[in-house]
Amino acid sequence: MVKKKHIILLGPPGAGKGTFSYQIKKIIPDINHISTGDIFRENITNSTPLGLKAKEYIERGELVPDEITNNMIKNRLEEIDHHSWILDGYPRNIGQAKYLSEIVTIDLVLLLSVDDEIIKKRILGRFICSNCNKIYNKYTLLPKKEINTNHWICDDCGKDIVFKQRTDDTEETLNKRLDVYRKNTEPLVKFYKEKKKLKTINAKNTLGYSDKEIKEFLEI
Ligand code: AMP
Repeated sequence: MVKKKHIILLGPPGAGKGTFSYQIKKIIPDINHISTGDIFRENITNSTPLGLKAKEYIERGELVPDEITNNMIKNRLEEIDHHSWILDGYPRNIGQAKYLSEIVTIDLVLLLSVDDEIIKKRILGRFICSNCNKIYNKYTLLPKKEINTNHWICDDCGKDIVFKQRTDDTEETLNKRLDVYRKNTEPLVKFYKEKKKLKTINAKNTLGYSDKEIKEFLEI
């Protein structure tokens, strides 16, 4: 049994935080993967009050205001209190990081480091199985079984997938999201370095790590 772990994944859009979380979950199946972006998208799909509030910010590539996001995370962490978790996409600014450190302890922050050229390719080619959330890429990682053009069977859950991009995965919104990352989220690198929690991983190829390497990153 793996020791209780509280892990934050930090990195720009397209660094591979979702893919890396997916790999961690294969090694530690009972760890909770909490992606604020996924929670917002689910709420948008279901037209909940939270989704309606978040939609305009997400479509513009801006951060959803802290009071909404912090509250959402607090509720989610309370729901799974007794478990370990990976936070993917939160915190995203110093205010959120300070808020988080008031409500939980943090064991490890993994910074996925990758350059802009790779980010663009990943983001503009990315698509996701709507059933199990496995992440694919039009240029680098297609599902194995193709049915016809832009239509496949998911390698993991076996359901049909049709190529559909996230509405915020356009070049214009990506540039905005990268600006927001540099301005608001990158200062967290220094914040967690000073707390001696940060470890940097070369995320040029997040799928290239073996289970052994991932366990080493996680110190388990
Ligand atoms: P992601 O899936 O992590 O790329 O997030 C998609 C979008 O959701 C971001 O561009 C933001 O608009 C919003 N979002 C996700 N996480 C946060 C957060 N921690 N704080 C504010 N907005 C967020």
